[in-house]
Amino acid sequence: MAKITRNPAPRKAAVPKKKAKAAAAKRKPAKKAVPAKPSLKAPRPWTPAEIREAFSRFQQANPEPRGELEHVNPFTLLVAVVLSAQATDAGVNKATRALFEIADTPQKMLDLGEERLREYIKTIGLYRTKAKNVIALSAKLLSDFGGEVPRTRAEIESLPGAGRKTANVVLNMAFGEHTMAVDTHVFRVGNRTGLAPGKTPLEVELGLEKVIPSEFMLHAHHWLILHGRYTCLARKPRCEVCLINDLCRWPEKTV
Ligand code: SF4
Repeated sequence: MAKITRNPAPRKAAVPKKKAKAAAAKRKPAKKAVPAKPSLKAPRPWTPAEIREAFSRFQQANPEPRGELEHVNPFTLLVAVVLSAQATDAGVNKATRALFEIADTPQKMLDLGEERLREYIKTIGLYRTKAKNVIALSAKLLSDFGGEVPRTRAEIESLPGAGRKTANVVLNMAFGEHTMAVDTHVFRVGNRTGLAPGKTPLEVELGLEKVIPSEFMLHAHHWLILHGRYTCLARKPRCEVCLINDLCRWPEKTV
C-alpha cells in the first residue's frame, strides 16, 4: 500500500539554469590569492664566528683606521662634524684648515664672530646656518661646560647643530667610547652585508652595537665607513676586491 504523506513538503520552484550557475559560482570559496612573486627569503644572519672573522680581516688590513675629518682637539672635531652634515669630509677640510689655525677654542671662535666665520666656511653647503650653530655652540660650551667639550651623549646633543651622529663621532674619536656613528656609508654597508639590517640609522646603529664584539668597537665605525667609501660603493660595489665578499649576504654581490 502506498504511504500517505499528510503534509508533503512544497516542491521548490524550478530555478532557471543560468541563474543556478551564477548562484553556485557565488557560493564557491574564493581561490587563494597567489602572490605575483615568491617572497624573497631573508638572508641567513651572520654567526658570531663570521662577524669576528670579518672584523679581524678589517683589523689586519688597517690596524689603526683614522677618520678623514681634520681636527686638532675635541672642540675642532666637534666643529668639523657639525660642518660636515650633507658635505664631504674633503670639502670641510679645505675650509677648516685655515679656520682652525686662528680659531681652535670656543673663545677664539666667538672672538672671530659669525660674519668672519661665514667667510671661512662659505664653500660648505648650508654655511649660514652652520656658522650660526658654531657660534652658538661655542657660547654654550663657555657658559655651561667651562669651555670644554662635554663627555656625555645628552650634553653633546644639547649643543646647537649637534645630533646623535655628532655625539657618536665625538664620543668615539675624542673620548674613545664604543659608539657607532651611522652615516650614509655605514647605513648602506650594515644593510647590504646583512650585518645589521635596519630601516633607520638608529636601527642600524643599535644592530651593529649588538653584534660587533667589544674588542672591535673602538675602530668599527671607521672600518665600516672606509669600507663603504672605498669598496662597497653605492652604485658599483667593488665586490671583486672586497675583503669580506665570501661572508657578505647581499644577493646582488658580483662574486
Ligand atoms: S661583497 Fe660587494 S656588496 Fe658585499 S660588502 Fe663586499 S663590496 Fe659590498
